[in-house]
Amino acid sequence: RPPPATRPADLDRAHDLRTPLTVILGQAQLLQRRAIRAGLDERNQRTLDTIAEQAERLNQLIAALLDLSRIQEGRLTIQPESLDLGALLTRVVSEVQSMETVHAVILRPLPSPLILDADPLRLEQVLRNLLSNAVKYSPQGGTITIWAERNGQQVQVHISDQGIGIPDEALPHLFTRFYRAPNATVQTTSSLGIGLFVVRELVHAHGGTITVTTAVDQGSTFTVSLPLLDIQ
Ligand code: ADP
Repeated sequence: RPPPATRPADLDRAHDLRTPLTVILGQAQLLQRRAIRAGLDERNQRTLDTIAEQAERLNQLIAALLDLSRIQEGRLTIQPESLDLGALLTRVVSEVQSMETVHAVILRPLPSPLILDADPLRLEQVLRNLLSNAVKYSPQGGTITIWAERNGQQVQVHISDQGIGIPDEALPHLFTRFYRAPNATVQTTSSLGIGLFVVRELVHAHGGTITVTTAVDQGSTFTVSLPLLDIQ
């Protein structure tokens, strides 16, 4: 692990980008609320929505790049605490459900208890990332199913979609940084190919593993295995 003095200064500057961005985002959201009250016409409303959306995207991209630099410098740390995975899954999935209009999002009944020694924010980041990929890579819709099962002292969380799937030749590269499979033609500004790399690092930091089973044009199931806390 390099001493702090050798950290690339340009990566630290990524932090500085967030400050003005937070102001832009906050002001855009304020303007959105005022515009609704003032009954702004639809065209201008859409313009405002785009500004707020893209500022939020930029914020997430910077966060992903910061995570990437932390990983590369061996500085990614997690703050584990005793955590109820069932409660976390229920909350995150219901938030996705409330936003989602194209897909059916189903959380199967969970075994309980599912207590982990995990960093709540980081684990939420893992789940959100996998769920947003499931949405992003099934543009034609379908069902996204989430379920968890206990396997000895492990819990396995499965996130399954009916989307474009992943070709065999892409599988060895899937969790490497900046990689995007050749069939991932969905063009969004949000796709840097960093997500799964960071997800896998975070899962490993929790003593877990991540795998995928997939078939092109049929869908993908990502499985995260994590150690359960003590005997439950
Ligand atoms: P991106 O920002 O491109 O989504 P990720 O690291 O999250 O980056 O994913 C890497 C690549 O893995 C994607 O570009 C896509 O090719 C593929 N991928 C990830 N999740 C899925 C999924 N649920 N279905 C199909 N392909 C996926």
